[in-house]
Amino acid sequence: MPSSSPGKDRLERLRGLLEAEQANLEAQLADDDASRPVELDQQSVGRVSRVDAIQQQQMALAGRQQAERQLQLVRRALARCEREEYGYCLQCGEPIAAARLEAQPFVELCLECQSAVESR
Ligand SMILES: [Zn+2]
Repeated sequence: MPSSSPGKDRLERLRGLLEAEQANLEAQLADDDASRPVELDQQSVGRVSRVDAIQQQQMALAGRQQAERQLQLVRRALARCEREEYGYCLQCGEPIAAARLEAQPFVELCLECQSAVESR
């Protein structure tokens, strides 16, 4: 009998993706390079590369913050797997479209609620 609830196999696969993503992000965050202050060696570093170093530092920091946010989302998604609530929109409770979950297994809102949030 066809059912609107997500299939068990598919959930298991998405959960696998989430776990891989979690491990990946944790490894990325464990690599502490981005949190180190820029070391500016005035002797050997010229004006241009000094600017480069600061820009690289800022990019690394932004990447780190993004990874932290992402990790939060992934962890929350895995917690929802535990409670068997995974795959449903947090706002309206409707199942999230399969293609949307495939593309971003950590999404919390269906497309409609997401667009509503973004257009606010
Ligand atoms: Zn929704």
